[in-house]
Amino acid sequence: MTAAATQGISTRGFATNSPEAKFEPFNFVRREVGPNDVLIDIEYCGICHSDIHQAKNEWPDLMPATYPMVPGHEIIGRVSQVGDNVTKFKVGDAAGIGCFVDSCRTCGACTSGIEQYCMNLAAYTYNGTEMDRVTPTYGGYSDKYVIDENYALKVDVDGDLAGVAPLLCAGITTYSPLKRFNVGPGQKVGIVGLGGLGHMGVKLAKAMGADVTVFSTSPGKEADARKLGADNFVISKDAEAMGALRNSFNFILDTVSAAHDLMPYVGLLGYGGAMVVVGVPPEPSMFHQGSLIMGNRILAGSLIGGIHETQEMLDFCAKHNVTADVEVITPDRIEEAYDRTIKSDVRYRFVVDMKHA
Ligand code: NAP
Ligand code: ZN
Ligand code: ZN
Repeated sequence: MTAAATQGISTRGFATNSPEAKFEPFNFVRREVGPNDVLIDIEYCGICHSDIHQAKNEWPDLMPATYPMVPGHEIIGRVSQVGDNVTKFKVGDAAGIGCFVDSCRTCGACTSGIEQYCMNLAAYTYNGTEMDRVTPTYGGYSDKYVIDENYALKVDVDGDLAGVAPLLCAGITTYSPLKRFNVGPGQKVGIVGLGGLGHMGVKLAKAMGADVTVFSTSPGKEADARKLGADNFVISKDAEAMGALRNSFNFILDTVSAAHDLMPYVGLLGYGGAMVVVGVPPEPSMFHQGSLIMGNRILAGSLIGGIHETQEMLDFCAKHNVTADVEVITPDRIEEAYDRTIKSDVRYRFVVDMKHA
């Protein structure tokens, strides 16, 4: 497959052409580096479950799939070219790209630093368009990205960047709600689902000083959960163990990627406790209003984070030595990684090596 274009930067990527299709090489052209742009040579790109939902068109109403699709929004690499006006980066710097690459810059959300909620719709890193609303965006399963410097993140890491890539989505998506609800020492925090987001949630909540319990459907993940820092591990189908924990949590983060009953988790919250859902299952989940009302509890959603907060998260991770636990794969293994992620057999983020692709 090759996308037609007259000039620009030749880019090698991996695309899927339908919900069932396999990934195959896809050569396309990125825009030339403009005065405010940086060119990033991509080293690694994480595989987020959102890539799978979109590649398989599982969110037809929320984010309909457009093909060819080059997914990937956990991008890390090195700057290889800078535009004349660029001040934030120099050639050779490590740089990251998350879930969006531009936004309107003028709406209330953009001017408040929460560009992910841009009222005019941000330009998503893939399966979207640039702000011209015409040019398709292609993601990080590719070897290069051209991005305005204001939407790229600075990464202060000398060593291997593979474990840093997942911070650009899984990291910020878990960091932002933990900060919003002031998670810290003396607080009991639950993380539901030990996948890519969940394992970052455990590491970050621990780094913030909380007491962390993992709720999982996979008994085989207990040892890993404790190694990641969890103080407690509960099989969510164990009614007795769940019952013993009722009304005891300050905060719960639900990262589950498939439809499930929310009530057992809401019931674990203490008076005024909050549960934030970040997982976006294709089907609606079950929920009874009474479980919120009896205890003045809060149920909220959260979408990634803005550029400023993403930078804050990267700096927090650098300071606390937090990176993702990754399994690095070559691009020919993307389908295998998707299949294993769908089966909850991810330990704990697949990262595609684009350096040698
Ligand atoms: P993931 O790595 O596949 O992890 C999801 C975990 O959920 C699994 O490992 C599994 O953990 C649990 N799970 C899966 N199926 C389940 C089921 N039927 N019942 C109960 N638990 C189940 O996925 P991810 O990349 O972390 O993403 C998680 C979700 O967050 C996805 O829906 C993704 O689209 C969404 N997301 C949202 C945002 C946002 O901004 N809000 C950002 C990124 C991703 P156990 O084995 O421990 O049970
Ligand atoms: Zn993601
Ligand atoms: Zn905006």
